[in-house]
Amino acid sequence: MQMSEKLQHSKPNGMTDAEWAARLELAAAYRVFHFLGWTELIFNHITLRVPGPERHYLINPFGLNYEEVTASNLVKVALDGQIIGDSRWGINRAGFVIHSAIHAHRDDAHCVMHTHTTSGIAVACKRDGLRGDNFYSAIVVNDLAYHDFEGITVHEDEQPRLVASLGSHHAMILRNHGLLSLGASVATAFRRLWQMQRACDVQVLSDSMAGESIVLTPEIQQASGRATMSVGPATGMEQMIFDSILRRAGIALDDLV
Ligand SMILES: [Zn+2]
Repeated sequence: MQMSEKLQHSKPNGMTDAEWAARLELAAAYRVFHFLGWTELIFNHITLRVPGPERHYLINPFGLNYEEVTASNLVKVALDGQIIGDSRWGINRAGFVIHSAIHAHRDDAHCVMHTHTTSGIAVACKRDGLRGDNFYSAIVVNDLAYHDFEGITVHEDEQPRLVASLGSHHAMILRNHGLLSLGASVATAFRRLWQMQRACDVQVLSDSMAGESIVLTPEIQQASGRATMSVGPATGMEQMIFDSILRRAGIALDDLV
């Protein structure tokens, strides 16, 4: 990431460039979610691993709206939810349980995103979940897991079942609950969640219309999944997508310190 002079100067003493860059990128992601309306009061999380050998993660300060999150007020935590260093803010430890399970289990899960959007929960409430019969769901169903609902508070004893449900997938519908994506970067996790969200939006609307939906064959779904590699991490297109939505939302990193 190109860092302006202002961003370099505003970096707290003793913090690595890599952590500061991660904080800025994660703060930007929270602002994007706010822009898209993917927020639920002060709840839900986007978490990002701090580069380095320690398994430390950044999470939103509990009590703030997403548009109030900055690089500086993000809270650094260990996998058990203990806060690392000083923080004026606490975290929602119960909410972190889902994220910490996935961060601990999957080395490729540098970023984990979870939402409670209306259409996401609506599809999550349906026994058949997401059908692969629209442009986006045909992509998503190739790499989608499901986890059964065990109650609104996820306790640590649910973590092994959660990661078993996830397996090697990169997206998961938490039944009756919401959507989750992961990726090696913010941009990758965002691209996956965008596709899931669009898939759910379209399914909710098409199911409300008269007439039958057209079924897509497994072959077409698989071809759709392969085709999405054209926007995958190797192409740089995910970062282009993420950067473009920052511009559209008017989010400048200089304003996020
Ligand atoms: Zn949730």
